[in-house]
Amino acid sequence: MGGIALKKNAFYYTLSNFELILMATPLAALAELCERLESTNARNSMVSWVASFIYQLEAKEISASVLILMGRVLPDYDQRVLEVSWRTISRIILKIANKNARSFTQAFSKTGDVGEATKMVLQDRKTGHQSTLFRKKLTILEAYRTFEEISNIKGTGSRAKKERLLETILGSATPEEAKYIVNALMGEMRLGFQEGLMEQAVAEAFALPLELVQTASMLMGDISEVAVIAKTQGKKGLSKINLVVFRPIKPMMAQVASNIAEVFQEHGEKVAFEYKLDGARIQIHKSGSKVKIFSRRLTNVTDSLPEVVELVRSQVGTTIAVLEGEVIAVNENGKPMLFQHLMRRFRRTRRIKDTAEKIPIKLYLFDVMFVNGENLLNKSYSNRRKRLAKIAGRILLTKQIITDNVETGEKFLKEASEAGHEGVMAKKLDSSYTPGIRGKKWLKVKTILEPLDLIIVAAEYGYGRRHGWLSNYLLAARDAETGELVPLGKTFKGLTDDEIIQMTRELKRLSLGKEGHRILVKPKIVVEVAYNEIQKSPKYKGGMALRFARITRIRKDKDPKGADTIQKVKRIYEKQFEKKARYSDS
Ligand code: AMP
Repeated sequence: MGGIALKKNAFYYTLSNFELILMATPLAALAELCERLESTNARNSMVSWVASFIYQLEAKEISASVLILMGRVLPDYDQRVLEVSWRTISRIILKIANKNARSFTQAFSKTGDVGEATKMVLQDRKTGHQSTLFRKKLTILEAYRTFEEISNIKGTGSRAKKERLLETILGSATPEEAKYIVNALMGEMRLGFQEGLMEQAVAEAFALPLELVQTASMLMGDISEVAVIAKTQGKKGLSKINLVVFRPIKPMMAQVASNIAEVFQEHGEKVAFEYKLDGARIQIHKSGSKVKIFSRRLTNVTDSLPEVVELVRSQVGTTIAVLEGEVIAVNENGKPMLFQHLMRRFRRTRRIKDTAEKIPIKLYLFDVMFVNGENLLNKSYSNRRKRLAKIAGRILLTKQIITDNVETGEKFLKEASEAGHEGVMAKKLDSSYTPGIRGKKWLKVKTILEPLDLIIVAAEYGYGRRHGWLSNYLLAARDAETGELVPLGKTFKGLTDDEIIQMTRELKRLSLGKEGHRILVKPKIVVEVAYNEIQKSPKYKGGMALRFARITRIRKDKDPKGADTIQKVKRIYEKQFEKKARYSDS
């Protein structure tokens, strides 16, 4: 057929002479690559295939292909949305295939995947919507331009316009191509080829150091554009990439530390602690009088927060700045309110002024990443914080201490929780800002949940070294209303060997007989129990269970009547649940 095989590595693609003249890569080539990627989990091969594929593309084709392969239609920072539903797409496909809805239901139940179902339905289309024999081959660029066009359509009649574009592209696609068009449109591309692997592929394709590609990708927030620069400008071009104002970068994240002492072990002698506020994280970009605000997920929320825009405009003392902070909702007295109130602010798009008046918010800044062209990501936390204090005007910063004393840190944590916050955030003084990374440079320490005094109501023999000992205990709380004992979980943690031997003797004395491999005991022994969380659990009658329960002490001084009640457990559960809901929303 007079074609030419491109690229030597594992992936070959043959271009027809016609395509060679136009140098427009057909979408079929990308679909074929997708099928190959789907067929394996071997990451190295996947990276090599993608590397050799993008190597041979034209610059414009590269950005489109990179995005499609990662299952995205537009880059993360791009605020446009396609707004095409599965209902619309499936209707168009049925029309093209000249079939009824049942064929989709069948295909879907067989494959469980929208793209694969599309392929099946189109594979045995009844009549040619457009004869596939004579159709012009779709190119990657055509497909991508259609995606862009769809996302640009706005206003009246936009639905019909979008549908027309979809019909044109799906009508001229092969079943294989249609599968991936649909997967990309629906955000259901399941190739397992995400940013990390794509960065490797770009580095391999253009023989560049991986670290350079990763840094560039982090700063631009868009690996598809980085790939284009890698091809057109190489190492020199990538090295010049800097943070771009109005294009958000991924936020740095924190790991958990179980207590203040652990933070000192990790961060060294001197540690910075800040209040961990119970709000929503925002990234603020300012250039002159123009201000944009992005949520933690990098959505543009500028229109929801007009007073923050105003505040930044009037207070931030530099022309250009990229800042980070937390907004919390407050009541008329300036006291923090539940997170749900704040979320209402983010959801509102109309009558914002009204809502702004009803739900006042407060901004606390905690970091600065860019000032007047100077990239501060590699500067230390202490340095950034100083710079932030200088430019923040009258905007509040999160409350902070720097200390070399564990007790002072613990006092600060207590103060934070008494003020209604979730805990503290510890920040390593000499640490740089690492976007998108959940490392140990930032550690969140949560307020410790109050331990519970619970009653041992049954026990089991342990395994291995503990096989002759009753070392696994079922713990229960009292129901203050009925007097019943309500189990909350088991633990084999916390006691020393000597204590377990003692406990075994005592429990045997209290035995009420066997139930399976469990020995039921008279409810006499009270133990203090620490735990990380109270979870909902269908396993226990009370509907709740302790997570990571461990005995911290045997309460010989306590009578079972003085043990904690299920009502108290419920209260702790609800309080903790409220907080959690707030965080998962953010
Ligand atoms: P996580 O998202 O679980 O890693 O916890 C960090 C979150 O705590 C951030 O995303 C912020 O929304 C929030 N936060 C509250 N106060 C601070 C602070 N002082 N420094 C950094 N993050 C904070």
